[in-house]
Amino acid sequence: MRVFNFSAGPAVLPEEVLRQAQAEMLEYKDTGMSVMEMSHRSKDFEEILFTAEQDIRDLLSIPENYKVLFLQGGAYTQFAMIPMNLMRNKAADYIVTGQWSKKAAQEAKIFGKVNIIASSEDKNFSYVPDLSNLNITPEADYVYICQNETVHGTTIKKLPDTKGKILVADVSSMFLSEPMDVSKYGLVYGGVQKNIGPAGLAIVIIRDDLIYDEVLPFTPTMLKYKTHTDAKSLFNTPSCFNIYICGLTFKWLKANGGLEAAKLRNEAKAKILYDFLDNSKLFKGTVRPEDRSVMNAPFITGDKELDAKFIKEADLAGFKNIKGHRSVGGMRASMYNAMPYEGVAKLVEFMKKFESENLK
Ligand SMILES: *Cc1c(COP(=O)(O)O)cnc(C)c1O
Repeated sequence: MRVFNFSAGPAVLPEEVLRQAQAEMLEYKDTGMSVMEMSHRSKDFEEILFTAEQDIRDLLSIPENYKVLFLQGGAYTQFAMIPMNLMRNKAADYIVTGQWSKKAAQEAKIFGKVNIIASSEDKNFSYVPDLSNLNITPEADYVYICQNETVHGTTIKKLPDTKGKILVADVSSMFLSEPMDVSKYGLVYGGVQKNIGPAGLAIVIIRDDLIYDEVLPFTPTMLKYKTHTDAKSLFNTPSCFNIYICGLTFKWLKANGGLEAAKLRNEAKAKILYDFLDNSKLFKGTVRPEDRSVMNAPFITGDKELDAKFIKEADLAGFKNIKGHRSVGGMRASMYNAMPYEGVAKLVEFMKKFESENLK
């Protein structure tokens, strides 16, 4: 029996996608072999890759002057690739709104001067600071954000005014959850295991004029964007099977109304949970309401023992991976594209019941 999996990542995938992968596991179309066993130089795999690229282009209306890359090493490798490729003046501005942007800033320090131009660490990343009038560093090569902080459950809803600097964004945990205007970014990327496919793969969308030949010295061939744009993500053996699953997810999204429809479904799910939290006498959300993520909702009871009891009972009732990140504690419900409305509705019912049984 499949459970309601609220994991922050790797996370729930659409059942239809898993079923199709299952049906094609032994023989992909008429090839007589699994996608896992296929040459990445074969016609069949090229078709999988190029179709996946076209489908994500369609979903996000990616302008023609952007390249789409399917790269290995997850999102974390991008924390290094971005500065290695883009820090031409060896300086960048980072907006730190949670664990992931903080880690990205930390990594970038290996390569140059990192200025933290805004931060919400003073209140344990429970809000998004004002980004309307930032002190942008004149020599900064880019301004970096993590648009949806998976651990802390905040979303940057209005992009920062970068005053003409390139905006670079990590959208791992909100990728394809709603439409996005790619033209506002110089580079936007995400690990796919939050909303799209299996872990290990990152999708990078990069504007043509940022694909440089001259990058920081000592940048390995594998970590140069140009290597991969020149080779159309086929420089070395890519994560073939992951790309195939991502492609199935793109088809699933397209068949279900695209990203406008996904946004409506996701907002409806988040609304029932946040409405409940706002009216609950036991549970409360930890994020300032206007900055709340539609994807990741952290909440607490205010009593660690009661949190632990809730997590245990929720698990027994089939609501899995509801425990908050180790750095924050409490609970967190991740409600990615593939989480059905029913899953969140049932979780809320369960929380109501728990509240009535445990309210002193
Ligand atoms: C999960 C996550 C990462 C790290 O992804 P890996 O693939 O494990 O490297 C980075 N950024 C965000 C926003 C994430 O949610």
